[in-house]
Amino acid sequence: RQEDDRCAGCGVTLQTADSERLGYVPAQALTRTPIICQRCFRIKNYNESSSITLNQDDFLRLLSHVGSTESLVVNIVDLFDFEGSMISGLPRFVGKNPIVLVVNKIDLLPKVTNYNRILNWVQRQVKEAGLRVVEVVLCSAKKNMGFERVIEALDEHRKGRDIYVVGATNVGKSTLINRLIRDYSDLDAELTVSQYPGTTLDLVRIPMDDGSSIIDTPGIVYKHRLTELVNKKDLMKLMPDKPVKPLVFQLNEKQTVFFGSLVRFDFVQGERQSFTFYTSNGLKAHRTKLERADELYAEHKGGLLSPPTLEELEELPPLVKHTIRIPKGKPSDVSISGLGWVKANSEAGADLVIHVPKGVKVALRESLI
Ligand code: GDP
Repeated sequence: RQEDDRCAGCGVTLQTADSERLGYVPAQALTRTPIICQRCFRIKNYNESSSITLNQDDFLRLLSHVGSTESLVVNIVDLFDFEGSMISGLPRFVGKNPIVLVVNKIDLLPKVTNYNRILNWVQRQVKEAGLRVVEVVLCSAKKNMGFERVIEALDEHRKGRDIYVVGATNVGKSTLINRLIRDYSDLDAELTVSQYPGTTLDLVRIPMDDGSSIIDTPGIVYKHRLTELVNKKDLMKLMPDKPVKPLVFQLNEKQTVFFGSLVRFDFVQGERQSFTFYTSNGLKAHRTKLERADELYAEHKGGLLSPPTLEELEELPPLVKHTIRIPKGKPSDVSISGLGWVKANSEAGADLVIHVPKGVKVALRESLI
C-alpha cells in the first residue's frame, strides 16, 4: 500500500502504527472502502467529540514554525486547573512573538470573588513560572464575562498579525474561538473543521475580514490531569458547570476526606483547622478517620465511593501518595489537577498526604482565594 494514502473523511495521511496520533487506522480496517481514519470513524458512528488533540511533543513539533512567523500567540488556560493546563515550553516555540494569556472559566469561582486579586495572583504565578506575557486577561468564554477585554487585548497586541490560539484540552478553546469568530468576522458559522475546506486537520486557519487569520491548534493532552484519565461520564462530574460552592471541613489531625475513589486527602498532622475544598459540586466528599480509611476504600471503592465504578477504576492507574507539608504563615492551596484545589485556612501549617491516580499532578501554591 502507498505511504501517502489519505483518509477519505478528513484527508489526513493514514498510518497504522500509533493509535494516539493523527491519521491512525487499525490495520484490519484497511480493507474497508472508502478508508477513513479512526477519528473520522468515531465521529461518524458514535458522534464522539471532534476536537483534535496531540501530546505536547507532537504539538510543539507541529508548531515549531511559529517562531519564524509574525504572529500573536493566545494561550488559553483553565483557572479551575491552572497548574495542569499551563503549557510548558511555550516560550521556546513562540520565538519573539508576544503571548496573551487568557485565563478562562472565571465563572466557576464563587459568586463573591475579587477579580483583581485573582488577576494579581495569576500574574505572580506566571512570573514565577518564568513565562513572559504581554497581558493576562481573565474571562469566561461560556458566560461572556471579561470578553470585551479579550477582544481589546487581541486588537492591541495583534497589530494586524495572525493569531495562534493554543491550549490544553477542555480549557474552552473552541468556545472562545467561536466567540472570536462571531466578534471578528462575518463568518457567522460555528467552528467545525469541515466548514473550512482545504485546511488540514492539524491546524485550522480561520480567515478574518481584514485578511489575517485565527489559527486553531490541536488541544494538548496532558496525562497529569485527572480529567484526561477518566471517561466522559466521570469527566462531566469532575468539571463543574456552575460556580463552585466551596466545601468547608473542620478537621482534626488523622482524618481523611475521599472524593469518590479518585482522590483521598489525609490530614496527618497539625492543629485542628479548617480546609476549604473547591471541587465540582457534582462530586461527593466522604469523611472518615485516617485509621479507617484503608478499610473503607477496600470495601467501598466504586460503590459508596464513586465515581468511578469498580470496572472503571480498574482502568485507572493505582492511587499513589504525595506528601505535602503546608508551611506555617501564609494560607496555601494544594491543587490537584482536574479535581480542583484545597485551601488550608490556618496559618499553623499541616502535614498532608494526598492520594491520586499515578501521574496526576499535585502542587502546593499560594492560595488563590
Ligand atoms: P476545548 O477542548 O479547549 O476546545 O474546550 P471546549 O470549548 O470544547 O470546552 C470544554 C468544556 O469546557 C465544555 O464542557 C465547555 O462547555 C466548558 N467551557 C468552555 N468555556 C467555559 C467557561 O468559560 N466556563 C465554564 N464554566 N465552562 C466552560
